[in-house]
Amino acid sequence: MSNKHFSFFKSVEKNFDKAAVHTGLPAGLLMQIKACNAVYQMRFPVKIGREYQVIEAYRVQHSHHRLPTKGGIRYSDAVNQDEVMALAALMTYKCALVDVPFGGAKGGVAINPKSYTVPQLQKITRRYTTELIRKNFIGPGIDVPAPDYGTGAREMAWILDTYLTFNHGQIDAVGCVTGKPVSQNGIRGRTEATGRGVFYGLRECVSYKDDMKALGLEAGIEGKTMVVQGLGNVGYHTARISQHEGGVKIIGIAEYEGSIHKADGIDIDALMKHRKDTGSILDFPGATNLETREAALELECDILVPAALENVITTENAPRIKAKIIAEAANGPVSADAEAILLKKGILVIPDMYINAGGVTVSYFEWLKNLSHMRFGRMEKRFNSNTYENLVSTVERLTGKTIGQKERSVLTRGADEVDLVNSGLEETMITAYREIRDTWKRNKKIEDMRTAAFVAALKKISADYLALGIFP
Ligand code: GLU
Repeated sequence: MSNKHFSFFKSVEKNFDKAAVHTGLPAGLLMQIKACNAVYQMRFPVKIGREYQVIEAYRVQHSHHRLPTKGGIRYSDAVNQDEVMALAALMTYKCALVDVPFGGAKGGVAINPKSYTVPQLQKITRRYTTELIRKNFIGPGIDVPAPDYGTGAREMAWILDTYLTFNHGQIDAVGCVTGKPVSQNGIRGRTEATGRGVFYGLRECVSYKDDMKALGLEAGIEGKTMVVQGLGNVGYHTARISQHEGGVKIIGIAEYEGSIHKADGIDIDALMKHRKDTGSILDFPGATNLETREAALELECDILVPAALENVITTENAPRIKAKIIAEAANGPVSADAEAILLKKGILVIPDMYINAGGVTVSYFEWLKNLSHMRFGRMEKRFNSNTYENLVSTVERLTGKTIGQKERSVLTRGADEVDLVNSGLEETMITAYREIRDTWKRNKKIEDMRTAAFVAALKKISADYLALGIFP
């Protein structure tokens, strides 16, 4: 959890500096990339019940090398300027890594959403959006928010509606925010995109025999053991997809109410049902309740997935972590100081700016859908399916054999929106992993994957500035 002594932004800067020395870029350019370009801190009054509350909120645009800027909005009482700046900076590097042509941004409202009713949350969200509009901090070509910790499709629909009210007739207005409900110009596959991206990234990572051998692991995702911290949107979908599509064994879960361990695997759907029925993950049949909330983080496992907030693996608990691979599904879960300890122990840390980039990747697809005003697949789905149908019929005619109905429907299917989204996401995650891995392999002085990811991202961002001739 965030605490007073921890500067998340400093942690990001520290990681940046570690990578910068490998880039050969001019110092001035590095300084420009590193800095947050625009920080908008606001306070606005909202009437809650009979009283007014003055709400503290932020929007930070870290880099304008590409527009619009992009990044989620977080609702949490731990929100502060340092945190939003750090998260905005991570968005810049994240977008560059996965070739999403945006600058980085982030928003935050310092509230605990659980302390407010739905109409109150709507009021706060609409007022926050109005503040963004007033300062020209939102728009399909300016800055495009999305969900983050404590927000979801519901809040995005309110943001869209508020924006539309003030931008009547603007043809691309629905591209002012992503992560919207599918019925409100959202895209299928966005909700689970971050978790799905984590799975694709992990599957690619563990597919390299030599890399796995160095960790004492076999290649391949099937049968790997996993511990997940945080069963929110990202953690839940990561666990669910890893289990169903990758044959991963989820042996531990850490949540707000405590943590559990089950060596022969936790059925994630059954656990979600248990949590819904009892209000807690504890006392799950066949599992052991562990002593503390964080205890599951220290279980022996192949893959540890911190999927909640920043700064959960610190110098305090890092020496006790026994995972072989840590996949940073959350932003900043491993502090810069803790990482040094983990690396010494030979743990592979897959950095946030890569492994959780699935969310913004599918946000990009949603934005493209909004600008094109049409669902992906609408034009070609039937055409493709008819072509495959003709092909199958021709094969049948030429061979004199008949293909069964079940097989036929698989062979002749045209792609739906969600198929295209998932395919684009899979391609993105695999390509980005290979880029990072190649960068790492090419430069023997790079010690860890985060540094390699930074170097790969900085190469792309700097190219935009250098093309302008500002930093010779
Ligand atoms: N909040 C998510 C992130 O940290 C998604 C951002 C987006 O879709 O713009 O990557």
